[in-house]
Amino acid sequence: MKMNDIQDLKKALSSPKNIVIIPHKNPDGDAIGSTLGLYHYLNKFDHNVKVIAPNDYPEFLKWMPGEETIVKFDSDKETAISLIDKADFIFTLDFNSFNRIDEMKPYLEAINATFAMIDHHQQPDDYATYMYSDVSMSSTCQMVYHFIEQMNDLEKIDKDIATCLYAGILTDTGGSFRFPSTTSVTHRVVADLIDKGANNSEIHNALYDTNSLSRLQLLGCALKNLVVLKEYNTVYITLTKSELQQYDFKKGDTEGFVNYGLSLKGIKVAIIFIENQAEDYIKISFRSKGSFSVNEFARNYFNGGGHTNAAGGRSDLTMDETINYFKRVIEKYKPQLQQNEEHTL
Ligand code: 5GP
Ligand code: MN
Repeated sequence: MKMNDIQDLKKALSSPKNIVIIPHKNPDGDAIGSTLGLYHYLNKFDHNVKVIAPNDYPEFLKWMPGEETIVKFDSDKETAISLIDKADFIFTLDFNSFNRIDEMKPYLEAINATFAMIDHHQQPDDYATYMYSDVSMSSTCQMVYHFIEQMNDLEKIDKDIATCLYAGILTDTGGSFRFPSTTSVTHRVVADLIDKGANNSEIHNALYDTNSLSRLQLLGCALKNLVVLKEYNTVYITLTKSELQQYDFKKGDTEGFVNYGLSLKGIKVAIIFIENQAEDYIKISFRSKGSFSVNEFARNYFNGGGHTNAAGGRSDLTMDETINYFKRVIEKYKPQLQQNEEHTL
């Protein structure tokens, strides 16, 4: 966000407003952390603020301060639509295209509110009056911190805001500040969030150490299904509906599974294909190391997108057909995936 935009926005928010904050569908830690962080910040003024999520999210996110106030569009349409209709201001966080909010899209297209976007995904659509888009950022949570900083309000960050933002930065950097988007600035932000009350150890515990036995067993099943395509330095995992059923799948249970593939020595691309339980499609997560862009790959072949090293997509074919199609399209990248990339350690 340019400085003059910030001054404009500050002016626009200087009188009480009805504000709605929206994360993407199937919200992750960064989406919930950033929307709630911004929610707690804007609530310090005389605004009427609500977070509306397109749908539900996993249990391991249901401890964040303010989480109980989130309205879920798919299960509480009446409340959600009346809030959207009354909104003067809509903040869209951690996504940059209305396609990422599914059923909410027509309602946002129909209203006459002012839109503000805070997001770190590539190729943003042009719908927001105030646009803070930066693909180099570790997370939308880090951007909310910088947004508050630009509003000259860092001293307003309390324990609740710090906790939500810390949780989103942690999850979006791969659970341990591991992705290359983690910079010295990210660490300075995180240090300040700890100073302002975020309890790093408790947050880590709440996010990662609340496994059920069936979830660990589902992970065992996923790891057994892992296939290595040696000549492409690529691995993939499949999970079928019946496997999910067998291990009592709950939303969020497969979060992070794809990263295990990347932990194999020399592997550059890891993919997980998961059959959706309710509808007939396959949800795909892509992760990479180095210059191979899974954003481009997901955009070109799997109706998705995201970041260079982490993206998502979908397939409407069967599992077998999807894997065959995937093997055909990855073929083109063989030379690139076989190249040695320099390391600087
Ligand atoms: P995940 O694999 O964890 O669902 O998503 C990885 C990253 O890609 C996240 O930043 C997520 O927001 C983004 N992403 C996931 N699915 C899609 C999609 O269908 N389209 C786009 N543009 N981004 C996606
Ligand atoms: Mn994010």
